[in-house]
Amino acid sequence: MFWERVSEEIYIFTSDRYALVNSTALLTKAGIVVIDAPPFPREARQVARFLPVRTGLKYHSLILTHYHMDHVYGMHAFPTSLDMLGHELCRRRLKEVGEASLEEAQRSDPMFNAVTLRYPTITFSSGELRFVAGNKTLRLMHLPGHSIDNIGVFLEEDQVLISGDAVMAIPIIADGDWETEIASLHKIKELAPETIIQGHGEVILRGEVQTVLDRYIHYLECVHEQAVSMLHSERDRKEIWDIPLETCGLERVPLGVASHQLHVANILSIYDKLKAQAAA
Ligand SMILES: [Zn+2]
Repeated sequence: MFWERVSEEIYIFTSDRYALVNSTALLTKAGIVVIDAPPFPREARQVARFLPVRTGLKYHSLILTHYHMDHVYGMHAFPTSLDMLGHELCRRRLKEVGEASLEEAQRSDPMFNAVTLRYPTITFSSGELRFVAGNKTLRLMHLPGHSIDNIGVFLEEDQVLISGDAVMAIPIIADGDWETEIASLHKIKELAPETIIQGHGEVILRGEVQTVLDRYIHYLECVHEQAVSMLHSERDRKEIWDIPLETCGLERVPLGVASHQLHVANILSIYDKLKAQAAA
């Protein structure tokens, strides 16, 4: 786990044990707002203890960008009295699959026995949710595609977007839809934040935001093209494993050893959908 400050009022905690997943803390005059929590109980407890000591502030609220375990599990380490904001679909997906996937994680590693699932207590299902915490205005907006429920949190005064996994060092759509994800990336381009705190990977700074978003859009279009060309060729499905990440303009480094697997999962998910449609 390492941490950095994006500004006086924004801390980011990054898990070096799980695909550089980010948890963000926003310091406001009303207290600390935590957006997503580290996946491992020990890391989550460290962050939960560190922030009030370091800042002298109390917690104000929690925000969950989407239902994936690497963002939600650590929420258990924060005071249970806090409200947690999220999309209505996030609450629904957690109800549908959360308990089963937590039980599976607990079977594979007892450290997850410390985790109790927390569900959003304040949700929205259309438009935006505007949320004021002290001196900060937060706009929660639906940015689906990576997952059906993903939201971004736009900090109006800072022009910073905490994107959840709508933006991540390798866009992942295996649990979502590539075209919806591209639409969300275009929406972010229009919003034109100065800084993006991605769900996974390094902060995208002023000046590189538009270039990086264009690279991610191009990546997803390429992933789709690769799936289509595999489908129309005589080649076997497993040859998708031979298509390098670099073919689609990204480097292998950003999310470590998992990078290639994530990339292959992207192509396979589109390939399998197209194949099922063709058979129907
Ligand atoms: Zn995710």
